[in-house]
Amino acid sequence: MTDTLIKNGSIIDGTGRAPLDGSVLLKDGRICALGDEADQQATPDAKVIDATGQTVMPGLIDTHCHLAFDDAGSNSEIFFQRRNALSALVASYNARKLLRAGVTGILDPDSTFENMIDLRDAIDANIVEGPRMSCGSYALITGVGGTAGRLINDEGTTGYYMAVNSKDEIVSEVRRQIKYGADWIKVHVTGIIPRQAHKGELCVWTMDELKLICDTAHDLETPVMGHCRGAGATRKAAEAGFDLIFHGTAMDDDALQAIIDRKIPIAPALTFQYNMVEFGEKIGTSESLMALFEREITDSIETMIAAHKAGVPLLTGSEAGFSLVPYGDWHYREMEVFVKYFGMTTLEAIQCGTQKSAMGLKMEGEVGVIAPGYRADIICVTGKVEEDLSLLGNPDNITNVMIEGVEKDLSPLPKRNPIPGWRLASIGSTKLTREIAFGPEQPPEPLNVEELH
Ligand SMILES: [Zn+2]
Repeated sequence: MTDTLIKNGSIIDGTGRAPLDGSVLLKDGRICALGDEADQQATPDAKVIDATGQTVMPGLIDTHCHLAFDDAGSNSEIFFQRRNALSALVASYNARKLLRAGVTGILDPDSTFENMIDLRDAIDANIVEGPRMSCGSYALITGVGGTAGRLINDEGTTGYYMAVNSKDEIVSEVRRQIKYGADWIKVHVTGIIPRQAHKGELCVWTMDELKLICDTAHDLETPVMGHCRGAGATRKAAEAGFDLIFHGTAMDDDALQAIIDRKIPIAPALTFQYNMVEFGEKIGTSESLMALFEREITDSIETMIAAHKAGVPLLTGSEAGFSLVPYGDWHYREMEVFVKYFGMTTLEAIQCGTQKSAMGLKMEGEVGVIAPGYRADIICVTGKVEEDLSLLGNPDNITNVMIEGVEKDLSPLPKRNPIPGWRLASIGSTKLTREIAFGPEQPPEPLNVEELH
């Protein structure tokens, strides 16, 4: 593999440090030098990329991206309309959209038919092109259900869920998932009980059960991640030994302390809500619903800031997979949430989306930083990203995407046609694309919002 020298760029290294101007030298898929040393060490036959006027930075890492869901408009669509092989093939198309958005790594928490494990292996085997992936399998849930209420079967699988109703079932399912290739065990710690929906999400596990999941997974060197909304659930998950918390909204002092004591990373995944806040009216959402979505963000400001200041890593996750957060358009946006609501500088937010989010790939210290020794997952972006994160939202600005030093194909994807029987006709298919968000036209149908994620 010939060396690559990226010259004349403004380098954001992903550690929160201010940008430095100069070159980056890549050798055998790794970063080997920066600045003058890079220029001096480059061999005459090195491939040169001129990054004048561009930011050179680590590729984005999205730690909450459901590649199997295909921009779904409802849970019903995911649960009842999808087929195994076809959804994996569709996901491989969508994975290429992520590359064009500068995403070089994702954590896919859970998938229908656990088929994102297959996509991950296909990407690793260089059979299809996509970002680095680390995966959960089915999300574990008790018979009480998750965020889709009675749509979820009392036992067995429903869409991306697997109900486990006894300690024996917990142990055997955790072991089975690891055997079949799960990098992580995903647990829906909280669910909505339809009759008690006014209370929000409730913890649907006992402490013993949560500990059993963690002990069984940790014995096999596999981390555990949990969907948690509400103070009690987040505290219990932290105390049980969870390695990563999704959402973590509405924490109280005890929950926050439990997280801080253990420095458990949180991926709030608030892009979904933020898109609704900023663009809800473009898709026919009522003001009261938009206010509800904004409260989920604003209610967490204090605890998220306290966690961040205490050294808890905040990771970026888009919740892509649903029609409010279509693939390719919003992966950078969680960084905007961190700046706007949590008071981070853009460089701090970029550190969350690169160096810190490498944890989601189980590749801390390997990717997410531009420094000698790191794997060369690098993007070149036109303009000064530290001055304007939204530059990352326009694919025209993203001119180079490299994973392990290999440049990815950024040519336009072939147009996709509808798949018979794939969508739920009654939901409509409005997607909050950039065109709709920033353009004048109003789509004809309002979005029918239910609890999706
Ligand atoms: Zn999710």
